[in-house]
Amino acid sequence: MPKLPIYLDYSATTPCDPRVVEAMLPYFTENFGNAASRNHVFGWAAEGAVEVAREQLAAFIGAETQEIIFTSGATEADNLAIKGIFDLYASKGNHIITTATEHKAVLDTCKHIEKMGGEVSYLPVKADGRIDISELEAAIKPTTILIAVIYANNEIGNLQPVREISAVARKHNVIFFCDAVQAMGKVPVNVNEDGIDLMAFTAHKMYGPKGIGALYVRRKNPRVKVAPQMDGGGHERGMRSGTLNVPGIVGFGKAAEIAAKEMEPDAERIAKLRNRLEQSLLKLDGTFVNGSIEYRLPHISNVSFQGLRSDELLAGFNKEVAVSSGSACTSASLEPSYVLKALGISDELSRSCIRFSLGKFTTEEEIDYVIEKVVLTVAKLRKEKTVQTIV
Ligand SMILES: *Cc1c(COP(=O)(O)O)cnc(C)c1O
Repeated sequence: MPKLPIYLDYSATTPCDPRVVEAMLPYFTENFGNAASRNHVFGWAAEGAVEVAREQLAAFIGAETQEIIFTSGATEADNLAIKGIFDLYASKGNHIITTATEHKAVLDTCKHIEKMGGEVSYLPVKADGRIDISELEAAIKPTTILIAVIYANNEIGNLQPVREISAVARKHNVIFFCDAVQAMGKVPVNVNEDGIDLMAFTAHKMYGPKGIGALYVRRKNPRVKVAPQMDGGGHERGMRSGTLNVPGIVGFGKAAEIAAKEMEPDAERIAKLRNRLEQSLLKLDGTFVNGSIEYRLPHISNVSFQGLRSDELLAGFNKEVAVSSGSACTSASLEPSYVLKALGISDELSRSCIRFSLGKFTTEEEIDYVIEKVVLTVAKLRKEKTVQTIV
C-alpha cells in the first residue's frame, strides 16, 4: 500500500528536490546579502551565488549567462516578453501571432495588448493540439513583431513543432517567443538548436522553489531587447528591476543542474508509468486520450471519461489521489477547458476530463493504486447512472 495521498499533479507544481532546499538554506541566513550591494563581502557572496545559478541555467538551455533575466516566475516572464516587445518594437508594427491554446499568462497578456491598440491573431490548432505551419506563415504581415507559441501545452502535454515555427519566424524576420515552462526538465530544450529568441520558464515546475523564474533574451543573431515593465534600480541589464531573490535563484540553478544530469533516465521511467496508467484506463469503455500521442511530454495524460463529469470523478477519489481537471489555473471554473475546445472536443467530453501528471517521485506502487481507485470510481458512477436511468 503506497503512502497516501498520492500526488499526480506535477504539471501544477512540483515539490522541491531536497538537494535544492539544501543548496538554498545558507542564503536565508549567513549569506543573506543583497546581490546588488557592490561595496562589501555580503553583497559579493550573494552576487557570486547568483552568477553560479545563472551559469547552471544558461548551460541547461544552451544560452549565455547575460541572456538570463530573473523574474518572479513564468507569469511575469510571459508578461515581460510580450508587453516588452510590444512597447519596444512599436515603430515596426503592432501585430502579434499566438495560438488559441496558450497558457492564460500569455492569452490574457495578449488580450491586454489588444486593449492597448495591438492586433493579435490566435491560430487554431489541429485535433492533436499542434498548429499548422502553413497557417502560421500565412498569418504573418509586414506589421508582425512577435510570434508567441508555447513549447508544450500544460493541459494535454502536446509539443508544438518549435523548430518549424522558428524557421518561419527567421525567414520573415519576426521574433519568436516561447513559453517553455512545461517542457523544461522533461525534454531537451536548447535555444539555439530550437531557434528561440525569448523564452519563459519557472523553477517550481522543475523541482525548484515557487516565486522564481526567468526570461531568456537572445543577445545575438538577432539581438533582442524588451522594454522593462517595472521601474526601479535597473537590475537584470535594465530589463527587470527589483532586488534579486537570491535563495530562489540558487535553488533554480541547482534544479537545472540536477535536471541536466537526471532528466533523461527520469523521463524514460516516468513515461513507462504514464503509459501503464493510460493503457489501463483506456480499457474502460468510453475513455479517450486528448491531444497528440506521438508528440507529447512524457509525464502528462489527459483522459476523458464519456458520460461522467470531472467533478464527480474527482469527488470519488480526491481524498487519496491528487489530480486536476484541466489546468490548476482554470480548474476553479466549471467552464469546459478552452484548450480541449480548441482541439474540437465537445463540451460534454471536455467536462469529463482528468489531467494526470506524473513526476520523478511517482512510484509503480502509486500508479497501480491510482488505476484501481479510478477504475472502481468509474464503475461505481456508471452503475449509479444506469440505475437512475432505469428508475
Ligand atoms: C505554470 C505555468 C505558467 C506560470 O508560471 P508561474 O511561475 O507559476 O507564474 C506559465 N506557463 C505555463 C505553460 C505554465 O504551466
